[in-house]
Amino acid sequence: MHKDIRSAGRQSRKTAAINALLLAQMRHALKAPFYLRRIGLPTLSAAAAAKVFPNLPTTTKIDLVNHGLDFLAVPAAAIREWVTTSGTTGSPVHIALAERDLNRLAENEAAAFALAGIRRGDGVLIGVGMDRLFVAGLAYWLGAQRLGATCLRMGPAMADFQTLHQRPLKPGGRWFLIAVPSLLAAWCSRGLKLPRNLAAVICIGEPLRDASLSPNILSQSLMHCVSAPLLSTYATTETCTTLAQGPQCDGGHVNPHLGMVEILDAADQPCASGTPGRVVITPFKQDAMPLLRYDTGDIAALYRGVCPCGRQTPRLGPVLGRAAQLLKVQGVSTFASALADLARSFAATGEFLVHATSDALGADHVTVWIDSPRNKQPALRREFEHRARAMIKWVPELKFAAPHKISALRQQCLARKHAYFVDGRTALVPQK
Ligand SMILES: [Zn+2]
Repeated sequence: MHKDIRSAGRQSRKTAAINALLLAQMRHALKAPFYLRRIGLPTLSAAAAAKVFPNLPTTTKIDLVNHGLDFLAVPAAAIREWVTTSGTTGSPVHIALAERDLNRLAENEAAAFALAGIRRGDGVLIGVGMDRLFVAGLAYWLGAQRLGATCLRMGPAMADFQTLHQRPLKPGGRWFLIAVPSLLAAWCSRGLKLPRNLAAVICIGEPLRDASLSPNILSQSLMHCVSAPLLSTYATTETCTTLAQGPQCDGGHVNPHLGMVEILDAADQPCASGTPGRVVITPFKQDAMPLLRYDTGDIAALYRGVCPCGRQTPRLGPVLGRAAQLLKVQGVSTFASALADLARSFAATGEFLVHATSDALGADHVTVWIDSPRNKQPALRREFEHRARAMIKWVPELKFAAPHKISALRQQCLARKHAYFVDGRTALVPQK
């Protein structure tokens, strides 16, 4: 009985703390012309905020593109960094960071690293770029510094790992590698040797599990060359809020000090635990460009209840795809990410592409381009059809081409990331 009361007390204190952080974020957002117009009140009491928040329309990437500077809640002179999104699904979005945002970024990533098991004195190999206005490399560096880890900023050219053993660094120490899983898989297929004492790989940007929470093909291919645990992490440039996991976790934990996550259905209503919907994030303590109910465009489920690691904070499952990259073929809805996972399992050199177009009637048509030696193509086609029916319930058109031709086709997509999906449809599926 007493234990229950104490537990309820702890729970209500937790709820109160979350509400205070949310209220502070909403009040700060009123300094930005966009939210002042949207909320329509010059100040917010706690009671008013509690009424306003659930009915506030989500903020979308299109809002950020169309009203960029109206999101600023600080004077221009307070901005320390501009970062941009990758532009994978349209125009890149520019996000301002003030000094407090950089401190928040360090706190956010240090907490995520701690969850992954990184401790002071461990080595962190940052296998993503620090340049070109990307925020990820900067965030990992700041987080590792805050935690007291030793950084090697390798960048995406992981070939440098070959020389790691020649460096007078961390003899006998533990290494953690941060990498984009598909790039790491490509390097592994070319014979990359990973450092000894690799404690875990923190995988960013791509999911490692499918809708049934089983390891996807990308994850399976990585397991052939990486014996260390593969940990997923999820974050977006706009929200700078990481959902991270440790080796025992089932999904990425929400950090309740830095944000809240909602999963909404097509009618903007909350989805039940375990039911996929649009991932909507409200970060806390954002200074330069505070966001409220930011619709990431990603589709995933939130899981409540106790995690195998013992933590009770909600966890985000794998990103099943982007709302804008949902294809409908032969009556079946399929995310481009599932098609990429299918294609990846057949790509001899790691070069492949999923190309969506519209047919004469406006219906979605999908062509999968794969590089394969001519003498292996008939058998590969049969296996492709068999596996496609099992994985996605329909068979996309399969074409073979040399790697340089697939690369040229990829150029049609102006995304800055190494894209595996080119959307050439005349009408995109709207995000909402
Ligand atoms: Zn956990």
